[in-house]
Amino acid sequence: MASPSCDVVVIGSANMDMTVRCKHLPIPGQTILGDSFVINPGGKGANQAFASARCGAKTQLVARVGNGVFVPRFLDNYGRVGLGHDFLIRDPELPSGTALIFVDEDGENMIVVAPGANQKLRTADVDAAMPAIEGAKVMILQLEVPLETVVHAAALGKKHGATVILNPAPVRSLPPALLDNVDIIVANEIEIAILTGAGDVDTSTAAQACKSLISAGVDHVITTLGKDGAVITSGDGATKVRGFKVNAIDTTSAGDTFVGALACALTEGKSLEDATYFANAAGALTCTKIGAQQAMPTREEVDAMVA
Ligand code: ADP
Repeated sequence: MASPSCDVVVIGSANMDMTVRCKHLPIPGQTILGDSFVINPGGKGANQAFASARCGAKTQLVARVGNGVFVPRFLDNYGRVGLGHDFLIRDPELPSGTALIFVDEDGENMIVVAPGANQKLRTADVDAAMPAIEGAKVMILQLEVPLETVVHAAALGKKHGATVILNPAPVRSLPPALLDNVDIIVANEIEIAILTGAGDVDTSTAAQACKSLISAGVDHVITTLGKDGAVITSGDGATKVRGFKVNAIDTTSAGDTFVGALACALTEGKSLEDATYFANAAGALTCTKIGAQQAMPTREEVDAMVA
């Protein structure tokens, strides 16, 4: 068996996304005929881990899934990019997390997520992943698993010297016990507005909005701004990092790709600004293809874009 050690450890959710395209979205009580139907591995934890591995970082995913037919499909997909799953736990009772997604002709969607086994990812599961955590340079966390687990993981990551990145999605208020151990928050402009109570957040207002998070003890906040790239806010000021112009056809998982690519670049010793530039390129490339994990770019594609 390959060594479970890694440079990037991701603790979070794994889902199966089931998407039906339809002319218009149904109203309550209505049955409609849809168009195409696709099933693809997703979940923010798995997506970010997949992106990190695809960019070339030795990555492990710590997550809880069910015991059914989706699991071989997850493992197949992770195997395609060498994403380690030594700490993927099979829950004997709950099914894998599932997202039921309807998308209409205008790209408008309706999504219901049944979290399944994700809601049982426990602190003990994190402890069981110590062989991955103790050597990791970067730990990535999101909020699709119980908050208690995320708080515990951040403390362990910090204790063992990892740079702890939190992508606070789905967004909710963050307890001080979590903020104390987070080095970098990565969030889009809507999440930053909700987290900080700021009004509209854009390139010119992001730094001001993020000040409260910096005061709360986070070293850096990266606000992602779609095609406009990102703004890094730190204690000593803010830096805008330009985005890349692409023909965007589907922005699904651009943020997840950004986070995974950022982590990968940081493990290689890139500065935060250079790593953010690299992540902007990866995020932009994802927008040029349809889907989540299957749309994420290879390392060669990101390097070519950056060059
Ligand atoms: P989220 O997917 O979480 O809503 P964003 O939309 O801000 O987050 O996208 C994350 C990153 O992906 C951006 O910072 C940028 O680098 C890239 N990106 C997203 N949309 C586009 C776009 N239309 N054109 C170019 N880059 C994009």
